[in-house]
Amino acid sequence: MEQLFDAIVVGGGPGGSSVAALLARAGASTLVLDKAKFPRDKVCGDGLTPRALYWLQELGCVDEVLDATRSYITSADLFINGRPALTGAFPATGPYPGFCILLERKVLDHIMIRHAVAAGANLRTACTVRDVRATPDGAVVTALAEGVPVSFRGRVVIGADGANSMVSRALGNRIMEGVTAVSMRGYFENVSITGSHIQVHFDEPYFPGYGWLFADDQGRANIGVGLAVDQMFPLRGSLHEIYERFVEQSLAKPLQNARAVGKPRGGWSSFYRPGKMLADAVILIGDAANLGDPISGGGIHMAMESAHVAAPVILQALRENDLSAASLARYETAWNRRNEIDWKIGELFLTIAKNPHLRELWLYVLNVIAGIARSDPRFQEFVGGIFSGASQARSAFDPKIWFEVAPLDPKIWIDALIPSRSLKFSALVPETLEGVRLMLQALRGVITSPGATWEWGGEIFVKTAELAVCYIRNELSAVETAAAHPEA
Ligand SMILES: Cc1cc2nc3c(=O)[nH]c(=O)nc-3n(C[C@H](O)[C@H](O)[C@H](O)COP(=O)(O)OP(=O)(O)OC[C@H]3O[C@@H](n4cnc5c(N)ncnc54)[C@H](O)[C@@H]3O)c2cc1C
Repeated sequence: MEQLFDAIVVGGGPGGSSVAALLARAGASTLVLDKAKFPRDKVCGDGLTPRALYWLQELGCVDEVLDATRSYITSADLFINGRPALTGAFPATGPYPGFCILLERKVLDHIMIRHAVAAGANLRTACTVRDVRATPDGAVVTALAEGVPVSFRGRVVIGADGANSMVSRALGNRIMEGVTAVSMRGYFENVSITGSHIQVHFDEPYFPGYGWLFADDQGRANIGVGLAVDQMFPLRGSLHEIYERFVEQSLAKPLQNARAVGKPRGGWSSFYRPGKMLADAVILIGDAANLGDPISGGGIHMAMESAHVAAPVILQALRENDLSAASLARYETAWNRRNEIDWKIGELFLTIAKNPHLRELWLYVLNVIAGIARSDPRFQEFVGGIFSGASQARSAFDPKIWFEVAPLDPKIWIDALIPSRSLKFSALVPETLEGVRLMLQALRGVITSPGATWEWGGEIFVKTAELAVCYIRNELSAVETAAAHPEA
């Protein structure tokens, strides 16, 4: 007979630890199963965004996390095609602080899992889950613990087992079926940094995606590169070679006296909604549900946020003794209400940008945006907020916000749009020709691969329509809520 728990959490990363702490604290008997032994490494950039710090505070362990870091970072340097394009500050927007921190996942995840255990969760490590069989009365989880078959019964199972989620596959979802950011990262010591301790590099070989250098105050840096691919536009060449080229060419200066620590390792996060986010007695959170931010690629804050959205629904379902998919669907509804529009905007952006023929054109557009942000602090705060996840992506489509943040000074636009910053005929002609060349190059690429172009165009059309429907549904629901609660 299997041991019975109210909740079994598969995976003790940021999502799993958060949901386990919230459930155990509320009195639910909770078991966390993880294939690793903590402290364990996880391939990541180790950047905790302002939004991640907010969720750590909500969970009650932000002080311990802040005590463990050696870097508070308030600004980031952006490079486009190898050239410095912008130094931007992290905006302090809404409830989020105006800084981010770096903390190795070995340390962060260990703090978080200890926090869950202190809240009353049981933890079983070195226990690899192999199967989840769900019924409306609960689910049976079978696993291998140090090579020995074991099984447990949970009234509900939370799949928090990351991008290669076994629980998601048990629901019938397919892994890496849509846009996926494949990445490689390594550590270096003795790195010389003159500007911001965060560098973000946009460059042709890995767009959409970026290279990064995240350095702490003692010259230790997490360096990596990630790019979005899918079946339509698969990875050309080797990720390891792209990483090596990034390290040798783009980071030659900060790494001139540095030494690599260990070997670089690869990882991935997907950015498409899986077929099912839940089923009878099963819920997926964090990377297991592909909930990372498609714009920045960051997923730690989204994993924690999904845990905070899921926990009250799970507790209510346990109280009502109704763990059916219909009851747990309140989680998906609540998640969509908070994030669906912004997430879909990011997904649409990735869908448009993933066509490699448009890379140079996009980099030109990014250069223009960076140019405007360089000259106008309000615009910079707006763009920085969207990229760091502190502002909602939907604000990029709000004419009222554009009216507030778009600079009125024509000189700013001229400087950003015309790289030579000159209106002289002799400067304008080559720049216009360069613009036309970029357009023609993009057009030629799109025309010479008609199959992929049709498929890609169709996907953009479908995603735009889905976004429009989602937007209208959201507006209607806001009107209904306002009508039902006129005093609010
Ligand atoms: C190269 C790279 C860089 C990134 N950089 C950043 C960044 O700087 N900032 C950011 O916010 N996000 C970043 N991300 C994304 C971030 O790593 C994830 O979004 C985040 O870790 C998701 O948390 P999670 O709790 O959902 O899953 P995970 O952190 O992946 O945790 C899953 C847990 O499940 C366990 N597990 C897996 N399978 C099983 C199984 N079958 N049985 C038992 N246990 C299992 C694993 O051991 C692990 O402990 C990066 C991702 C990559 C690949």
